[in-house]
Amino acid sequence: MIDVASTQPHYEIAVIGAGIAGASVAAELAEAGRRVLLIEREAQPGYHTTGRSAALFTETYGPPAIRALSRASARFYEAPPEGFCANPLLSARGVLMLARADQMDALHALHTEVAPKGDVRLIDANEARSLAPLLRADYVAGGMAEPGARDIDVHGLHHGYLKAFRAAGGETLTNGDVRALARSSAGWSIEVGRITVLADTIVNAAGAWADEIGALAGAGPIGLVPKRRTAVIVAAPPGTDPAPWPMVVDVDEQFYMKPDAGRLLISPADETPSPPCDAQPDEYDVAVCVDRIETAFDIQVRSIENKWAGLRSFVADKTPVACYDPVAADFFWLAGQGGYGIQSAPALARTAAALIEGRPIPADIADQGIAAADLAVTRLDVAA
Ligand SMILES: Cc1cc2nc3c(=O)[nH]c(=O)nc-3n(C[C@H](O)[C@H](O)[C@H](O)COP(=O)(O)OP(=O)(O)OC[C@H]3O[C@@H](n4cnc5c(N)ncnc54)[C@H](O)[C@@H]3O)c2cc1C
Repeated sequence: MIDVASTQPHYEIAVIGAGIAGASVAAELAEAGRRVLLIEREAQPGYHTTGRSAALFTETYGPPAIRALSRASARFYEAPPEGFCANPLLSARGVLMLARADQMDALHALHTEVAPKGDVRLIDANEARSLAPLLRADYVAGGMAEPGARDIDVHGLHHGYLKAFRAAGGETLTNGDVRALARSSAGWSIEVGRITVLADTIVNAAGAWADEIGALAGAGPIGLVPKRRTAVIVAAPPGTDPAPWPMVVDVDEQFYMKPDAGRLLISPADETPSPPCDAQPDEYDVAVCVDRIETAFDIQVRSIENKWAGLRSFVADKTPVACYDPVAADFFWLAGQGGYGIQSAPALARTAAALIEGRPIPADIADQGIAAADLAVTRLDVAA
């Protein structure tokens, strides 16, 4: 922790936001030898979107840059550094992309798009029902199976990065609400609650609040839109063991269902625009969720065991922004990870750290097709 009594401690880099984006890039920068402060408004890092995800790793979800970053992250997930985490970061799951008869064209289009770089295959209704036995026979017409999709231990990943950050000499300030930013010849002055710290460079990893932090710095906006998504936990039908079932996702992303520690995590896959906030589930979305699940599956939801909502924050093309602001000097954006910020975090953090330090993007990530221009704010039609 920083010494609050000392006046204006000075860091090379201040990272704002200690969700998965901030924690991972802070760890990469500290391990590269930089003096880094990680600032988080909440008492616990991970309280917002990072702690509310569906915890899936799939190389076929999201726009092309996300798929590339996820492919480039696989090696880290499969072989994290020695001592990073106590348990494996990934475990078997699989995804079944589901289509009704009227959605088969969409299914084939998706297959055509992702098959060249993804381990996927089209399956018929019978095979879909053998993978996911609760599917209604009169509902499903076909599917696309992705057996290599896996569950992520999000807590293990996030805390592995926080631990690595501390081990590399990084300092963390929790309960630290960044309220004002000012730039002078001494660098950035950051007002955090009642104290002020100085930093040469700011990394904005504030999740849904990234455009608000940008405004404090005279940077951006990048046109970030936080969108609420609801998750609900219900019991599995009596006598069933959901553990071996894949996550089942409607091909038009109207719902999904995923086994979760003996229960079922269900979602209406809602994307309701929201101001940045401590998102809460809306009863209407919960009701829509239950209706869509009961329509596709032989399930009667009798009670809701748990429910939550989180904000998935997107820019116009749903691809993250990782670049220096074109106007505000030494202000780096790491935002817009949308619905894929966990699975892509290892490669995105290494990419961002390289761009912050003025190094080339690591070769294994560039080899997957990632270039700095793909993540630059200048690709967007915004007033940055
Ligand atoms: C229901 C749901 C399901 C999802 N499923 C998946 C999935 O299966 N796979 C996947 O890869 N992704 C998934 N996601 C997306 C993923 O969770 C996000 O992309 C990721 O967590 C974003 O991380 P972040 O660090 O940018 O944001 P956050 O975790 O929100 O972190 C931002 C932090 O910044 C802090 N902050 C903001 N303003 C300030 C300030 N002024 N001062 C100090 N700190 C500040 C906040 O307190 C917050 O902790 C899902 C999301 C949701 C909601």
